[in-house]
Amino acid sequence: MNNIDSALSRFDRQHGSQDGGGPIDFDAYLRRVVQDPEKGIRNVFQVFHDMVEHLVEPGVDEYAGDPESINYFDHDTSRLFVEGTDSPFFADRLFSNRLVQLAENFRHGSLQNKIYIFSGPHGCGKSTFLDNLLAKLEQFANSVEGVTYEALWRLDRKVLASFSEQESGKFLNRLSGLLDEYEFKQTDLIKTQQLMEGGDDYIEIPCPSHDSPLLMIPKEYRRAFIDDLFKNDQAKWKIFTEKQYDWLFNQSPCTICNTLYQSLLERLRSPAAVLKMLCARPYRFNRRLGEGISVYNPGDRILKQNVLDNSMLQNRINSLLRDSNRVHYLFSNFAKTNNGVYALMDIKGHNVERLHELHNIISEGVHKVEYIEENVNSLFLALMNPEDRARLDEVPSLIDRIELINIPYVLDLRTEVEIYRNTFGRHIEDSFLPRVLHNFARIIISTRLAKDSVAMQEWIGDSEKYSSYCDSNLLLLKMEIYTGNIPEWLNEEDRKKLNAKRRRQIIGESESEGIAGFSGRDSIKIFRELYSSQAREGRLIDMKSLCDFFKNHEGWSAMIPDGFIDSLRRMYNYTILQEVKEALYYCNEEQIEKEIKNYLFAINFESGSRVTCPYTGDSLVIGEDLFVPIERCLVTRSGDPEKRLLFRKATQKKYTSQTLTQELLVDGREIEETKLYARLHERYVYYLKEKVLDPILKNENFRRAIKDFEGDNFRTYDKKVREDVIFLITNLCEHFQYTRQGAREVALYLIDNKIPEDFSA
Ligand SMILES: [Zn+2]
Repeated sequence: MNNIDSALSRFDRQHGSQDGGGPIDFDAYLRRVVQDPEKGIRNVFQVFHDMVEHLVEPGVDEYAGDPESINYFDHDTSRLFVEGTDSPFFADRLFSNRLVQLAENFRHGSLQNKIYIFSGPHGCGKSTFLDNLLAKLEQFANSVEGVTYEALWRLDRKVLASFSEQESGKFLNRLSGLLDEYEFKQTDLIKTQQLMEGGDDYIEIPCPSHDSPLLMIPKEYRRAFIDDLFKNDQAKWKIFTEKQYDWLFNQSPCTICNTLYQSLLERLRSPAAVLKMLCARPYRFNRRLGEGISVYNPGDRILKQNVLDNSMLQNRINSLLRDSNRVHYLFSNFAKTNNGVYALMDIKGHNVERLHELHNIISEGVHKVEYIEENVNSLFLALMNPEDRARLDEVPSLIDRIELINIPYVLDLRTEVEIYRNTFGRHIEDSFLPRVLHNFARIIISTRLAKDSVAMQEWIGDSEKYSSYCDSNLLLLKMEIYTGNIPEWLNEEDRKKLNAKRRRQIIGESESEGIAGFSGRDSIKIFRELYSSQAREGRLIDMKSLCDFFKNHEGWSAMIPDGFIDSLRRMYNYTILQEVKEALYYCNEEQIEKEIKNYLFAINFESGSRVTCPYTGDSLVIGEDLFVPIERCLVTRSGDPEKRLLFRKATQKKYTSQTLTQELLVDGREIEETKLYARLHERYVYYLKEKVLDPILKNENFRRAIKDFEGDNFRTYDKKVREDVIFLITNLCEHFQYTRQGAREVALYLIDNKIPEDFSA
């Protein structure tokens, strides 16, 4: 096979398999319906739902099993909005939940006879959103997965001719028919067209309204017909009971199909024979041709003549049916998007007139084309800027037909960061210390949130208790909730108070947020400026540079809530302080265990005695030398003898009255399983962690050693310092995702900005 052949055959295979296929006769269509009712019977609302279900990954719930969950999931919308698009749209968690909910409502058949207006401020990316959404819908509707069927009549000339012969033997009729045909055959143009349609035998008449072939069964017989079609199974139950299938029983076909059916029935005298001339073909969506999808821009003029016909087809219908123009092949632009999508990009200019025009169509589902009524059941979508809201009030009767869906600026910081990564490349992260890039996003988002939140105030009350983690307006906490994270630093009481009702209340507040503050375009611009001025080879952008960057720009800092940057920095400082402590804390669990067990045994004896501890096997000399070091950790750092003695006596009492007599002897526990042991252990570890910063705070060499880490001078430091530095850096890299450079810089940041002092009690 040569290359051309193989290229063609491969193209044929691939393209063919992506395609919904060609026309099939009504019988074959019914077989498909029975085989897969959900795909065979669906209107545009159901197709929309199926597309969202097909392209959006099932949401992830980070707290699976949480009884208070409100199904606020992390939906991955990248296949819908990012992959294969010219410019991607990033739906944050709040918006993707809204969209998935909308699709779900479509499937349940509620909320039809409405216009869905996506309202969002300048620079929120709403036109990209609609473009990408409609491109994917077009793709989906034209694929095997998303195909829907529309009625196509194939009038069989021979059958119709023979019937007219039998019919009352009207010779004249026959003669005129012959004459008609003769006339037709004279016309070359028509000949060519007939050839393209597959010969003389048929005339194909597509339903201009793209009606489902099932609607051709007259409404009064349709219920029984569908009933007979299915076994009494789940699918049938669904079709007959669920609201999403109401249209199947309630809708009428367009007047063209309706009159065609009537004329054929009169001629053929058998409904079955009429249906033999009915085919089903895939409904092809084509936005550029306005079939299935039409998108109007504010500048698109309204056509004066919104009545379309096809005179050639009309002539042929007339000649074939010879029934004095009963079938009028006449329709409007709306027919082209019946059972499809009719969209307005922005409610401005000519689109305001279009909105007026839509008023009746949306509420009644019908309008007049000359003297004919045309059904219109489309998915009506529109975009709007919040400031154009007043335009809607100009059409008061439309108000209760409007479903507003907010499409605000991104409020979920993970999505915001994803936008930077997508715009500037993943490598941007290498220029920031961990968390700093996300903190940039937090600053941007802080300008988009409402400063006062009733929901948050009712939940937390006084925000002072969380001042190490959060700003006084609790915006930082709210951002965590929006991103789907319940912070670990919440106390147990507040964690419990975060019930489903409260969650709904907090998420609900997002409906009125994200319409002011830095726009999507602003944030890209600001990021570019930060990145180009601060990112340097061999140096990472830290929190100080980030905060200074915003503070030094008057215009920007005016938009950021008062004190927010300071709180953010404090939260950051607190977090890295914990990380550094954790990294320095050398947890020799074995040693700790031994010391506590020996202590618990030793306190039962007089000073000067020599005993062997049964828990460790160590031989102990009872006395201050044994007690002082451990009591400095457990009781008081100063080593005050009075306090230590009090503590020792109390511990001893507890040991004999509870630990030994009850837990060890009666319950048969091990010493490390007792309450007293657990308490001492906790105090001991706490103390060690507190002390853990001593090398950093008390040894000037330590700072220089960090600076020289991995340099030639590093080996000149004494062994203990070198070991501590290596230990710190290694742990920061291993446990907190720092690079070696990042670990060094964060440690220096901590020392140079004297952060431990800010948090010392
Ligand atoms: Zn029709």
